[in-house]
Amino acid sequence: MIVRLTYSPEVVEKPVLAEIILKTGVPINILEAKVNAQKGELVVSIPAKEKTLEQILRFFKEAGVTAQKFTQILQIDFNKCTSCGACISPCPTRALRFTPDWTLEFDEEKCVACRTCVNACPVKAITVP
Ligand code: SF4
Ligand code: SF4
Repeated sequence: MIVRLTYSPEVVEKPVLAEIILKTGVPINILEAKVNAQKGELVVSIPAKEKTLEQILRFFKEAGVTAQKFTQILQIDFNKCTSCGACISPCPTRALRFTPDWTLEFDEEKCVACRTCVNACPVKAITVP
């Protein structure tokens, strides 16, 4: 699950993320970070499901960090897609593949929101909403 974390000025210097990783043993991966003295915004990938994920989100909330789940990471316009496959091999997590009838299939669970596929598509069929 991809989650946006927003740190307020009161907690921006606290090692909240490191503490939650140590407490839960879940290797939360930072995909994007914008941090300054006033505010911090991270996009992270949390490789956990259901109960553990909800527990992690609760820990962030208790630590004063707003955690917002990405409900949709990518949008694929199948009217534009020509099934050329240019987005498939650069994807580092194999989140994109063809079905037997050459329709592009996206596995959101595997996606780490790196956006490599967005840049790889020659017809701009993949966008970030
Ligand atoms: S954003 Fe990155 S991980 Fe997700 S499907 Fe595209 S290339 Fe793969
Ligand atoms: S690169 Fe674009 S056109 Fe080619 S398969 Fe991927 S989404 Fe479709």
